[in-house]
Amino acid sequence: MTFRTRLDELKAAGLLRRRRLAGTPCGPEMLIDGRPVLSFASNDYLGLATHPCLIDAATRGLSDWGVGAGASEFLGGHFRPNRDLEAKLADFVGAQKALHFATGFMANIGIVPALMQRGDAIFADKLNHASLIDAVRLSYAFNHRYPHCDLGVLEGQLSANRAKQRLILTDAVFSMDGDIAPLPHLLELAERYDAWLLIDDAHGFGVLGPQGRGTAAHFGLKPGGRLIVMGTLGKAAGVAGAFVAGDAEVIDWLEQSARTAIYTTGAPPALTFALAESLRIIETGDDLREELNALIARLRAGLQPICDRSGWRLPASMTAIQPVIIGGNEATLKVADALLERGIWAPAIRPPTVPDGQARLRISLTASHGEMQVDELIAALTEIAP
Ligand SMILES: *Cc1c(COP(=O)(O)O)cnc(C)c1O
Repeated sequence: MTFRTRLDELKAAGLLRRRRLAGTPCGPEMLIDGRPVLSFASNDYLGLATHPCLIDAATRGLSDWGVGAGASEFLGGHFRPNRDLEAKLADFVGAQKALHFATGFMANIGIVPALMQRGDAIFADKLNHASLIDAVRLSYAFNHRYPHCDLGVLEGQLSANRAKQRLILTDAVFSMDGDIAPLPHLLELAERYDAWLLIDDAHGFGVLGPQGRGTAAHFGLKPGGRLIVMGTLGKAAGVAGAFVAGDAEVIDWLEQSARTAIYTTGAPPALTFALAESLRIIETGDDLREELNALIARLRAGLQPICDRSGWRLPASMTAIQPVIIGGNEATLKVADALLERGIWAPAIRPPTVPDGQARLRISLTASHGEMQVDELIAALTEIAP
């Protein structure tokens, strides 16, 4: 089969993806493919990607540290801003130690194979992010997948398992559904069955928990013991990068063995420098989180009647990720196109990113949106819905 036929098949199934061209910086109002749109597509939950304080910090970072790191972190590319950021991150999430990575995808595919090897066993939620799925493959460990947040099935799998090392792996906030994993119960299972629990907090860090300390903090938990927390710095933190935090013993081991932290050029020090400012804004940003939460409540109140009428489904998400499940691929694309005709961009998400028959609009809100903009989206969907 040629790649052309495969491409044609994707197209026929309504699964061809297209990267729309952004002609302006990330924000609620953008030029997309040359047209002004109101965007509900970004994960810049606190509006930090273009925050003046962060731009200032990055500019200072550039003038103090230059652009590139020049080498991997073990060969001279580990700069003071990188080291300081790791200490600040550990402190912020309440862990003994943290290790920084260039991106969240790199973090996951480095951490999991470093923790688990051939003969070990991984227990993974079926709705985990693609990077965690690939991470499991790279580890060569046995892969047991459990139905989304199904603790009963997970416990059955754990109790039947005899592997020496075990790891439970889950998104903390699920990236396409917006729901929150039951971390206290998962940790309890991890402790009872002598397993590690690694949570991917890409969508909780900065927005959930006191001062935005993340989903673990939301439940009163801290990294340490059996709990290892990975978080990303390109979403709410507004920059780029990721980290893993936990007990010093675990992080020391990851520093020695996570290949995506060892065999890659160090992160640009200007960015790790800027991230210190990002952490400061997150920590003092209760007002931003309050604005975001008010918008989430407003959007859900507006969407519920539309869904009740049309047969669309609004899952129980309390986070900034608000999916509207429409079902079919073509039907979902049609709704997204109709929105775009009205100047509104909420991306259509189709399989394999989500299960078959669960194509959806993925609406994401940020603190930079205004109430009127949310109302505009609700009004447009009211017109479009069957
Ligand atoms: C975005 C995301 C990642 C990848 O993080 P990047 O820093 O964008 O590479 C990993 N896990 C989840 C759940 C995500 O949503």
